[in-house]
Amino acid sequence: MSLSTELVHADDKHNRVTDIVSPINVATTFRYEEVDLIPWNEREDFSVLEKKPIYSRLAHPNSLRVESVLSKVLEGEAVVYANGLAAYFAMLTYYNPKRLFIGEGYHGCRSIADIHTRNWNLEQHKLEIDEILQHAGKGDVVHIETPVNPYGTSFDIKAFADATHSKGAILVIDSTFAPPPLQNPWDFGVDVILHSATKYFGGHSDLLAGVLAVKDKEVASKLRTDRIYLGTNIANLEAFLLLRSLRTFEMRIQTQSENATKLVSYLIEHKSDFEGVLEGVFHSSLQTEPFVKEQLKGGYGPVFAVTLNSKEQCRKFPQLLTCFQHATSLGGVESLVEWRALTDPYIIPTLIRVSVGVENVDDLIKDFANALKTLQGAKN
Ligand SMILES: *Cc1c(COP(=O)(O)O)cnc(C)c1O
Repeated sequence: MSLSTELVHADDKHNRVTDIVSPINVATTFRYEEVDLIPWNEREDFSVLEKKPIYSRLAHPNSLRVESVLSKVLEGEAVVYANGLAAYFAMLTYYNPKRLFIGEGYHGCRSIADIHTRNWNLEQHKLEIDEILQHAGKGDVVHIETPVNPYGTSFDIKAFADATHSKGAILVIDSTFAPPPLQNPWDFGVDVILHSATKYFGGHSDLLAGVLAVKDKEVASKLRTDRIYLGTNIANLEAFLLLRSLRTFEMRIQTQSENATKLVSYLIEHKSDFEGVLEGVFHSSLQTEPFVKEQLKGGYGPVFAVTLNSKEQCRKFPQLLTCFQHATSLGGVESLVEWRALTDPYIIPTLIRVSVGVENVDDLIKDFANALKTLQGAKN
């Protein structure tokens, strides 16, 4: 079935009551029934946990539903977590590589790698093809993020997959910025897909969640077992909210993708109108390498970045906007901008990250253009 249908029905098999909308379950523990009376060390497999909740740290009714829906969306075995970084920590803990190849991208993933380095001497390497070919070995992990934070530009997944696999290493992709149907990383040879579901799957800036997807059922089962003891399953209320959000995921991501692409092309076409203010525009839609279009077959990601002429302009710009609010994070139905220097110590000080929402695109374009024009006037 197609994505839009799966989003609404993939979890029908978990129905426990006649309610059309799955109830919010706050229970942490569930009554045993006759058929459940098998001692833990006599159980041959733990798949029963996927059908019958016992204790909510293991699984609960809405976490099971979310996993069923996300398994369809991501075309693999989805394992859900309390947030994106919990998913990343779980991935590193499970694969336990000797070496990690990591580059640009979400700073939180790098901080988790630093914890592994501090505690277990994880060796960190630059994310470059030559570096992988020279230093990677069996069981090492290569971590790419594409499209990448905060620019929204793309890296060649297949090139990294080929280098990684030639050394027996594992390729993990953080695909948060372009969930399906925009990008399907399996087509390019990745081994693990990670998403911060806080962003587009959640989509309403009101929940934290994360997900790993793998192709191998056994690996998924081991990740779920680890998760019991890491204590990082998604919480009851968040699972309900995420499930509700997923119903409309496809329409949201498509509108956000189209809006962002139109706004970017407006800015490029009218760049000379904003002289002295708008310096650079960064987005996958502006890249000319053939792999970019192949990877983003379903549309470009809804995040892009601009650079302005000065720090002072970056300070003022967010205050001149009305549709776009000034806040960190991304992926919600509401458009946001962020002067990245506020939260990222390494970024160039004149960069504004833009997360495009589902508002009317003409309103967004007018708002953005007005703010740039006002800044231009202020300068003269
Ligand atoms: C937000 C984000 C994360 C971290 O996810 P949380 O849900 O905030 O823990 C990881 N990767 C990317 C690309 C993100 O944008």
